[in-house]
Amino acid sequence: MSTETFDLCVIGAGPAGMIVAIEYARAHPASRVALVEFGADAPSPRNALDDTIQIANSANHHEPYECTNKGLGGTSASWGGRCVMYDEIDFLPRPILRGECTWGPSLLAEAKRYAPRAADYFECGDDKFDLTKIAGFDGGRIADGFKPGPVTDTTVERWSRPTRFGPRYRGELDSLTNITVLTGWRGSGMEPPSSEGAVPSITIRRTADGTTRQLAARNIVLAAGAQESTRLLLANPQIFRQRGGVPESLGRFYQGHVSGKIASVRFRGDPRKTDYGFHRDEHGIYVRRRFQFTTEALMERGLLNTAIWLDNPLYFDPSHRSGAMSFMYLAMIAPIIGKKLAPPAIAHSVTKGKVTSLPAHIGNILRGLPMSLFTPASIFFRRYCLPRKLPGVFLYNPDNRYALHFHAEQVPDAANRMELLPDGETLRISYDLTGADVDSVIRTHELLDGWLRECGCGELEYWFPKEELPVAIRQMSRDGIHQVGTTRIADDPARGVVDANLCVWGTTNVFVCSSSAFPTSGQANPTFLLGAFAVRLAEHLKKALRT
Ligand SMILES: Cc1cc2nc3c(=O)[nH]c(=O)nc-3n(C[C@H](O)[C@H](O)[C@H](O)COP(=O)(O)OP(=O)(O)OC[C@H]3O[C@@H](n4cnc5c(N)ncnc54)[C@H](O)[C@@H]3O)c2cc1C
Repeated sequence: MSTETFDLCVIGAGPAGMIVAIEYARAHPASRVALVEFGADAPSPRNALDDTIQIANSANHHEPYECTNKGLGGTSASWGGRCVMYDEIDFLPRPILRGECTWGPSLLAEAKRYAPRAADYFECGDDKFDLTKIAGFDGGRIADGFKPGPVTDTTVERWSRPTRFGPRYRGELDSLTNITVLTGWRGSGMEPPSSEGAVPSITIRRTADGTTRQLAARNIVLAAGAQESTRLLLANPQIFRQRGGVPESLGRFYQGHVSGKIASVRFRGDPRKTDYGFHRDEHGIYVRRRFQFTTEALMERGLLNTAIWLDNPLYFDPSHRSGAMSFMYLAMIAPIIGKKLAPPAIAHSVTKGKVTSLPAHIGNILRGLPMSLFTPASIFFRRYCLPRKLPGVFLYNPDNRYALHFHAEQVPDAANRMELLPDGETLRISYDLTGADVDSVIRTHELLDGWLRECGCGELEYWFPKEELPVAIRQMSRDGIHQVGTTRIADDPARGVVDANLCVWGTTNVFVCSSSAFPTSGQANPTFLLGAFAVRLAEHLKKALRT
């Protein structure tokens, strides 16, 4: 087998791999970069990676094909585009994390330096995640009478187009003549490191016919997404030889987010002053505010970081009486159209997989005509026909009552893990919610309720009796689309898999650029921070090339 030589070899062409490859190749036109992508140019309904994943608990974890996409652009082919920044508290040691927060706030400060570049790639405007810093914001509150305290209302999520990295950056890759893009190739075996710690090469295998090639590279970046970067490391224990063996934390501490709805909020003030929808910032980007909690409030009460936003009532339950919602629900459950409207994980979050009460939904539609049809038609146009899509659908409620959607951090738990089975191929994913995860969701709602009452702004109305809340949360929460923790950063090689520069402990030239490197999950969807880390890694590799 002949060996081809590159300065940088990137395995995986999702957002992380594409950002690293493009940033690096642009800065060093004389360098040679290989970008290796498992997915072939022609999409395939099945693939050998997803077919060899076993989900131990599919009640709380989506099926493999719902969690990632293969091909140029990776999972950005179906991501929603919600860009959220991690918070200070996510980098702080806290008793509730049982000593498992293995990164520190200096890393957040550093990542923030690269956030503007990440925002460019994601086309989400800029890196301002505070409504008060966004031009044109009129200073209004989320609801009439709300006052900031332990609960805040000015942190925003920003929305990408959503940018599909494959089609969006294919031209850029083609124009960078120093990048060789290899689609339909799977990164597999790595040689053991030299005595200095450098892994000389990685073998790639063509998925179509099993042909192999060996790529020698000064640096190798594993950007194959969290589960595949983890699987690659688990399948290559020899690269940990200098370190004295495979890190105990590799594959462990798998986290996603606990999410769902257990309550509505009824505001007391003027319903027209409730800020339930989107703002557009000065670049025309959609941004939306949410309830969050101050670092002090979370610390004092031992709570996990949580965001709670205003939402519509459950679509499948016709008691909402909205013709527009019933129409959209029926469209989502319709056999062929439904699949085209949203990826399965997103569709499930709307329909909850239920096909129910069809006559009542039809009744809602008939009673609400003509708006039952006009509202969905206008939403359809803004969501599917414009280049910058309306990111979601939030409807005004004259009763000033809104469902609350929570999105909460999980405790890093060693029992939640990805492990390679003895066949050396199958990746088994064990994922569950801990008691602390569930308890924190309940207590953050209590904190929100208490604060809204204290402000005289409103109160929460629970959907379940108190004693049923833990079971309800366990039954409704399902993740697997945000994958965090399995190759975590730590300053001490005994505690993690990569160092603060994302370099695998025990090697000097293998890096993991994936949200799997994040030791905590926070409340944030991870891809925006991952983008900042990808720009930072390219910068680090560029500096290393100069020395
Ligand atoms: C339905 C859905 C909605 C989402 N919405 C959001 C959202 O709104 N906000 C957010 O922040 N995140 C969201 N996410 C998560 C987001 O898509 C991921 O965090 C992001 O795509 C991760 O980027 P990545 O480059 O690390 O991995 P990926 O995008 O998964 O790309 C990895 C690439 O590596 C390739 N690969 C894998 N193994 C190998 C190998 N051995 N050799 C070569 N190539 C390999 C894969 O084919 C893939 O193309 C969503 C995910 C899903 C499924």
